[in-house]
Amino acid sequence: MKKGIVAASFLLVGLTVVIYFFNEYERHFVIHDHKQRSFTPLFYSSPETENVDRVEEVRDYYRNASLSSPLEWGENVSGVKNRLDTDEDVIALTFDACGGPFGSSYDHSLITFLREHEIPATLFINLRWLDENEEIFLELAEDPLFRIENHGSEHLPLSVNGNGAWGINGTASPEEVIDEVMLNQERILEMTGQAPRYFRSGTAHYDEKAVEIVENLGLTVVNYDVLGDAGATFSASGVEEALLSSRAGSIPLLHMNQPSSGTAEGVKQAVPQLQEAGFTFVHLDQYELSE
Ligand SMILES: [Zn+2]
Repeated sequence: MKKGIVAASFLLVGLTVVIYFFNEYERHFVIHDHKQRSFTPLFYSSPETENVDRVEEVRDYYRNASLSSPLEWGENVSGVKNRLDTDEDVIALTFDACGGPFGSSYDHSLITFLREHEIPATLFINLRWLDENEEIFLELAEDPLFRIENHGSEHLPLSVNGNGAWGINGTASPEEVIDEVMLNQERILEMTGQAPRYFRSGTAHYDEKAVEIVENLGLTVVNYDVLGDAGATFSASGVEEALLSSRAGSIPLLHMNQPSSGTAEGVKQAVPQLQEAGFTFVHLDQYELSE
């Protein structure tokens, strides 16, 4: 009888240990945890086309996963990159094209300036903007001065449980997070033959679980360290002043969809001064990124 109890106790302890290590294994090696950068995430794929092929695998995973509630919400959550990881005097200008009823215009004057002065820039394109500007989109995508990246499908804050920002309701489930990223991703790939590597949500808000989902889809979430035009609300001198606060490795966030804003004029004012100060302009993908 006593032997039976001892044996059962050993069995129980053994089982507990096995379950514990299985959980640890799963936590570190299977789910892509952004605090464990050295481990290969399950769904990581090449940035070219594979992330589109593997979306169903990611979908299945999150359909069955029981996610704990996210702990962070905002622009600066774990896993979001805000700077180039360098102390060289380089700046990566990023311009969002947000789309929607008040955001589907095209700042021709801004893009012309960048072309005339050969200033490289990274363009975060939303699906709604793309739909309204297909020809311009293709023209920009074919220009080696620009890189096309993913600014979401419906321009939603990226949440696994419906958190919102600026009065916009965010995505409300992992499924919706995946759609918000991948509908636009697939469309851009289809039109250009190249899948974006970087994602920035509408409103630039996230929770950390949503950021992990994006990483598992093979993209990196990129925000900014210089608020360049505050949603295209700054005056030209406001934009100029913001851009002049850039330092080595800065990522300014500006807009290319609001031609009546101060953005183009502010960029025209600031760029020559930054060049004079020794800065050069680069694409996001030329450097490693850091938080
Ligand atoms: Zn936007």
